[in-house]
Amino acid sequence: QYLERAERLDTEVHAFLRLTPERALAAAEAVDAKIARGEDPGLLAGVPVAIKDNLCMVGIPTTCASKILENYRPPYESTVTRLLEEQGALIIGKTNLDEFAMGSSTENSAFGPTRNPWDLGRVPGGSSGGSAAAVAAGGAVASLGSDTGGSIRQPASFCGVVGLKPTYGLVSRYGLVAFASSLDQIGPFTRTVEDAALVLQAIAGHDPLDSTSLAVNVPDYRQALVSDLKGVKVGFVKEFFAEGLDPDVADAVFEAIEVMRDLGAQIQEVSCPRFARGLSTYYIIATSEASANLARYDGVKYGLRDREADALVPMYGRTREEGFGSEVKRRIMLGTYALSAGYYDAYYLKAQKVRTLIKQDYLDAFAKVDVLVGPTAPTTAFAFGDKVSDPLSMYLSDIYTIPLNLAGVAGASIPCGFDAKGLPIGFQIMANALEEGKLLRAAYAYE
Ligand code: GLN
Repeated sequence: QYLERAERLDTEVHAFLRLTPERALAAAEAVDAKIARGEDPGLLAGVPVAIKDNLCMVGIPTTCASKILENYRPPYESTVTRLLEEQGALIIGKTNLDEFAMGSSTENSAFGPTRNPWDLGRVPGGSSGGSAAAVAAGGAVASLGSDTGGSIRQPASFCGVVGLKPTYGLVSRYGLVAFASSLDQIGPFTRTVEDAALVLQAIAGHDPLDSTSLAVNVPDYRQALVSDLKGVKVGFVKEFFAEGLDPDVADAVFEAIEVMRDLGAQIQEVSCPRFARGLSTYYIIATSEASANLARYDGVKYGLRDREADALVPMYGRTREEGFGSEVKRRIMLGTYALSAGYYDAYYLKAQKVRTLIKQDYLDAFAKVDVLVGPTAPTTAFAFGDKVSDPLSMYLSDIYTIPLNLAGVAGASIPCGFDAKGLPIGFQIMANALEEGKLLRAAYAYE
């Protein structure tokens, strides 16, 4: 039923790059077999899920929405897709994204944009726009995305669904095609907070295949789902309510804060003055890591290869020229520049120091409050073409989500109403590292 629905919706929404019916039906048979044997079929038994196309699945093309990986079929499976299927989930397809997860609108996909199900003339956000739109349109019950600087929370906000970015290291990145390895983290899109808790339960935990994976015991997140906020301290980040914030978004977020107060939360203003440096810090660190990570696409080992060049070095150049889109090239150039001899100290090293200061702002805040709140994005979904020609205005779309990735802490976007145009607004809730329980409680009680 979901496969049919996903196929039908997709003629308009284009959330999927491909459907994977064989894989879904094989998983469904495995669930049936477990039930027949009297075994527990798992936490997500029979639940149709969609997977961002930067997560590897054996034998199924994983393109990262890039021409350079168009025909790449991974010989190995990502830990998260393995864990989902161990819990009985049915993977019905791979979803669209900005090429290599670089962007905030899904317009950077080499295979055409995804449309926002609420208004087909608008973007779904990005980079996990396909995963957000698939859940919003009812093409999947849940999906996975990746969030390097906001790519789960911002599209969740634009599409009116729940999006959760876990603590860095809680979910294994094994099999996630790397963009900026010290920032990338995988997480769920769902319709409800309870569903997000269930998917997180399935994918969280230590993985020896990811050296940055944390050796922690995963708590039962469902126990955190209580419906009041008595005794919970909530801080709203003063700096998020400044110039550039759409007044409809500000109103909805303040209303959400009042709902939390009614539920018993103690509300206070918190200042995080160094968040203002987040965007510039992120665009040094993320591009530097991307320039190194994307060096592997040289026409030799993966996907596309130029056949015209008569020697090795020109083959590298021509393959990359042809295979990468312009945003990816911009990032590789910026990162290569920031890392080059003579500039390293001035840019990369300096950015790492500022990153530590931003993390300190979070630690100071979480010494006072249990969760921080604010808007997820400064605006609701924008129209196609609005920001494509001006990268800086596109980058500003993530101004409230980026500091969190730099600090490695946890955050989610929860729907909190609509603007005057009827477009969904997202409410961001943030918690300290490994405090997903607190985050989910606050989100669940609010929802
Ligand atoms: N929009 C941000 C960027 O372009 C974040 C992307 C992401 O989180 N993958 O880098």
